[in-house]
Amino acid sequence: MLNTVEKIIFILLAITAAGFTFHGFKTIIDSIRKGRPAPELKDVPGSLVKAAIAVLFQQTIFKARKVLSAIHMGLFFGLITYAIVNLVDVLEGLIPGFDLVYGGVHLPNAPTGLINAFNLIADVMSGALLIAITVFLVRRFIVKDKALTFRDNVLLNPKVKAGGQARDSLTVGVFVIMHVGARLMSQAFRLDAGADPFMPIASFLNSIFGASETGVHVAWWISLGWVMFIIPYLSRSKHTHFFMSPVNLGLAKQNPRGQLDPAIPLKVIEGQKFDPGAKVVYDLAWTRVMDAYACVQCNRCQDVCPANFQGRPLSPSALEVNKRYLLKEATFGSHPEKLLLPLTETVISPEAVWSCTTCYACVRVCPVGNEPMADIVDIRRRMLIDGYEIDSGVQNALQSLATNGNWMSKGKRLRGKWAKEMEFPVKNATEEPVEHLWFVGDTASFDERVIPNTKMVARLFNQGGLDFGIMYQNESNSGNDVRRVGEEGLFEQLVEQNMEAFGKAQFKQIVTTDPHSFNTLKNEYPQFGGKFEVKHYTVTLLKLIEEGKLTVKNKLSNYKVTFHDPCYLGRYNGGFTAPRKLLELLGVEFVEMPRNCENSFCCGAGGGQIWMGKVAPGERPAENRIKEALTAFGEGAKDKAQLFIVTCPKDMIMYSDAVKTTGNEGKIEVRDIIQLVAEAVMVVA
Ligand code: SF4
Ligand code: SF4
Repeated sequence: MLNTVEKIIFILLAITAAGFTFHGFKTIIDSIRKGRPAPELKDVPGSLVKAAIAVLFQQTIFKARKVLSAIHMGLFFGLITYAIVNLVDVLEGLIPGFDLVYGGVHLPNAPTGLINAFNLIADVMSGALLIAITVFLVRRFIVKDKALTFRDNVLLNPKVKAGGQARDSLTVGVFVIMHVGARLMSQAFRLDAGADPFMPIASFLNSIFGASETGVHVAWWISLGWVMFIIPYLSRSKHTHFFMSPVNLGLAKQNPRGQLDPAIPLKVIEGQKFDPGAKVVYDLAWTRVMDAYACVQCNRCQDVCPANFQGRPLSPSALEVNKRYLLKEATFGSHPEKLLLPLTETVISPEAVWSCTTCYACVRVCPVGNEPMADIVDIRRRMLIDGYEIDSGVQNALQSLATNGNWMSKGKRLRGKWAKEMEFPVKNATEEPVEHLWFVGDTASFDERVIPNTKMVARLFNQGGLDFGIMYQNESNSGNDVRRVGEEGLFEQLVEQNMEAFGKAQFKQIVTTDPHSFNTLKNEYPQFGGKFEVKHYTVTLLKLIEEGKLTVKNKLSNYKVTFHDPCYLGRYNGGFTAPRKLLELLGVEFVEMPRNCENSFCCGAGGGQIWMGKVAPGERPAENRIKEALTAFGEGAKDKAQLFIVTCPKDMIMYSDAVKTTGNEGKIEVRDIIQLVAEAVMVVA
């Protein structure tokens, strides 16, 4: 179809585009390689295949924004189809007689059915692409969806502030419209034999514009000439994610969700000494440098961030976007010196760093496997080492943890005080063998508001004939939140103390009432040689009931309840079933809140937030959650008491407080699940 001069021009353009594209991706790969060693990945080919399948079926994007995800699916399949369509179009342009449009008359041996199918798919997908891209452009530029914006208090790269993302989106959006539109016109101009039922859109356009040899040439050049400019541009824009997100997904975190990477990479590289945590961008593991290139900049992580919800200056997506712009300015641009600037000046503000609750919602929702939360913990780690002045409440908690092994400034010997007040002896697991070592945790051991529930757990265990004991003063805080605050040294000290205590004890299984302890004992102690079976008390109680060791004598049909999945039990460790099954056995009327299980909303206490002396302004996540529960209960019959059920001592405190501050006392009551179990089995005090 093309004449010789056109062919030479096209081939020269293609070679130039390939050169720029190669340079673009080489720059990106070189940049990623400068990151620190990441935890070793197993079966990389297998993971990449799984990721390719997930991307092909668009599995990861449907975790949120279902309608937009379906439209994105149209865009994705449209672009995949167009990769093949473009190849065929190039061949048609370069090879005389290679022509699919007329049902294969110029390809005598090609099966007509196949050609018709190709033409139909190309035609229909062109329409899908145009619709999908129009929806996304309208969303960004006409509707101006707030979900694509950032709060004013969030640190943003000046180029993002100046509209860099919008320009990128517009460039690629206009490209898609021109590319696909021109391709459709090129096909329409070629239909000189009239309508083709396998090209309905091109046939419709042909009925308006007719056939034209010149039109075919012009449209072909607009469609494919553009590609030669856009492909190199992609590697320099946010649309790098087209290529990098499947790779990123394939190389994403393989360790358990609840296991943080060590502060210093385990892999020793000769001649390289690493300081703990991250100060500058290449202090991050290479997998997390890659996150920036894979980021779709969709803000889904921001949507689910409790800190952002409260109006705090944290946006996990801004962190990734800023990283991307920083890397671009330093590697493609002329500012390599920016790589030496602290992340707290370029990527995330110090205040935002300390706003994170480590709820994992951002990581869970990310369609491309990014881990902004892990960056935040690494930044905290270095800030602490560099002497950054942290919140006084956190400072006091850390001091108490170092001295007393608990954050509540209580003497070690007081840890088992509640147990000594029980009407039956509670074994000391460090002195006599037990089947179940109950790791009680700080809040359940010391907080007067929670101790009655702790005692109830003991009574139920006792009544169910469970052979259990606690470690009394030998137990120290598990260190889950200490590690998330960034105090790796103190975390290791606490692990050492607990490991020493476990060493004195004989037990088959650990049971814990605290999801935070549950998480770190289960997922992080193995990094230090502690490999135990760890259960949350909801699982233990369910087993006792199912085995008939505890009997539900009193069905609680007078309660209408909802259940809050704590982040460290649910999202981190998949502990969704046992609490719900327990509630079902107790006979309550159960109402699910819209945000539940994986999608549960954080109470706002994790990652050291409960220790903060300063309360941030704005509606607290726990307050919002109480309102969500009341909305879920609706206006139905008020003859039942409405209960908000928790399975975490911190939740008990956070939500009881939120009921008061939202003025909902009398309408909803916060109870630990243990209170309901005790009432139903009529535990003997
Ligand atoms: S872990 Fe939670 S609080 Fe922290 S950035 Fe992610 S969503 Fe926000
Ligand atoms: S980190 Fe993930 S969820 Fe957040 S903006 Fe990037 S791609 Fe979207």
